[in-house]
Amino acid sequence: MKWSEVLTREKLQQYAGNRSYAAGIDYAREGTVSGLMVSNDSITAYVQGTETYEVQIEYNQDGDLIAECSCPYGEEGNFCKHCVAVGIAWLDSANSAEGITAPTREGYREFLEKQDKAYLVTLLLEQIRKDAELQNRLALKIAQSQSTTPDLTSYRRTIKRTIAVSGYLDYGETHAYARGVDSVTLSLAELCESGFAMEARQLVEYALDELTHQLDDIDDSSGNISGVWQELHDLHLEAALKSPPSPQELVQWLLKTELAMDWDVEVGWQDYLPALGDEGKRLFMEEIKGRWENLPELSPGDRSAYSGSRYVLTKLMTEFAKEQGDIHAVIALKKRDLSSAGNFLEIAKLYLEAGEPNTALEWAETGRATFRDTPDARLLDFLLLQYTQRERFAEAYAILWQRFMDRPDVRTYEQIHNYAEARGDWEAWRVKCWEHLRKVREEQKSKPNDGRAFYRDDAATGHSEEVRILLSEGRSEEAWDEAQTGGCSRDLWLELAKLRETDHHEDALRLYREEIARKLDEVTGDYSEPFRHILKVREILLRTEQGDKFRSYALFLRAEYKRKRNFIKLLDTNRFPA
Ligand SMILES: [Zn+2]
Repeated sequence: MKWSEVLTREKLQQYAGNRSYAAGIDYAREGTVSGLMVSNDSITAYVQGTETYEVQIEYNQDGDLIAECSCPYGEEGNFCKHCVAVGIAWLDSANSAEGITAPTREGYREFLEKQDKAYLVTLLLEQIRKDAELQNRLALKIAQSQSTTPDLTSYRRTIKRTIAVSGYLDYGETHAYARGVDSVTLSLAELCESGFAMEARQLVEYALDELTHQLDDIDDSSGNISGVWQELHDLHLEAALKSPPSPQELVQWLLKTELAMDWDVEVGWQDYLPALGDEGKRLFMEEIKGRWENLPELSPGDRSAYSGSRYVLTKLMTEFAKEQGDIHAVIALKKRDLSSAGNFLEIAKLYLEAGEPNTALEWAETGRATFRDTPDARLLDFLLLQYTQRERFAEAYAILWQRFMDRPDVRTYEQIHNYAEARGDWEAWRVKCWEHLRKVREEQKSKPNDGRAFYRDDAATGHSEEVRILLSEGRSEEAWDEAQTGGCSRDLWLELAKLRETDHHEDALRLYREEIARKLDEVTGDYSEPFRHILKVREILLRTEQGDKFRSYALFLRAEYKRKRNFIKLLDTNRFPA
């Protein structure tokens, strides 16, 4: 296949959609495409957008275009406007060449291979002045090649130049930045491999320090930077294991990284144990213990003293205590922070583990009583289980009921249902639950809707929660009545429609048609959902021997939505109404 066969304007438009296609044409016209390079199987180029993006277009056996772009939208797998711009630029160059075809990548290679060295060196020197990344790459190669000992100064200079950013680095800029840091990590890994593990480790520490200074100025929602962050940490570990520093030095580094919590890394102090040795491990634990003991004790209601380093210190101290198999030491640690219901739960669980179930229950109950206004779901689950095991069902029901009062939704309803069913109490509890549901709905109708009420009662949602509950119980007739009286959300109406297809097909037909009309008024472009409902309508009408009605319905749709060309096309393809 040739490029002229696979790359056409029509195809670009089809792949990119109208908007990206139009934007891409503008880009190409404004001359933002540079470095266009064609080979038999790929076209590559740069496009100047918010920053410079790299585009590559290829094609497969079927002649489908496969494009990649380094912009955020392109990285999500979309055929973006930059890809269009490159495609258009190629089409333009192919048309305007007037007999002289632009050389392909192979053409350039062939030409360059024939040139003498002096010419190539001059050419590259010119390029180095314009291309910072190329300059960095070569600078490190020079530093490595110059002598048997690496030139640490030039490494540091390169690291600083690559990592220091002026101003804020936003989402779209992190890709190119991360690639720069990657090239640093790569050359440091080479250094580590070639017998300079100590130097490599020190340089990694320098790089991580520099990167730490940038963290506040980076939007890393793409995850590009946390990726390079992790790789630098991996390399640090590798270098430290290869050539261990003194225990003191390593302990200082570990304290710094463990307590900083800049970004999570999958490298922890335990990975460094072979390098730390017994002496280093003892030192590290002592340092952590000293810091831990300086933390204030926290009581319920205390929040201000909470911090990330407290979390890390607690985690590390817990690891130490667990390692020594001393569960009461772990409990004592946990008791220094009683600022949340979750902590009471953890203590309760530990007592259970220690074989003291009554103390466990006491701690859980105290936690529940202390945080009555902000109940912790897991703590309540724990109590529920404890009461059930002790056959204290009244207290178990009290917990379930408190939950239902807080959140009378289908989930808590089902929880009570399952629990009471197992005990033969469900009929009485069902009555109680519904009395409560009706009461809440009444109360809420008399109150202005402040947006905080559990139920929102408006045309869009109606009695959705009641309908959902009845559907979950398989009471579809009652659910239908409830929806008729109080209304419900669209997805529930569709669920009801499905349930009525067989025995009440007129109801189902009406609901599907309403939904089709609503969707067709709303959407443009993607008609797959309303079309699915149209197929439903057709199926029901054919089954009930009303094929003529489907014919007239399809004709109505054609007339009513004749402006929606893609929709009409869809009807054509399926030969509706034939
Ligand atoms: Zn793009």
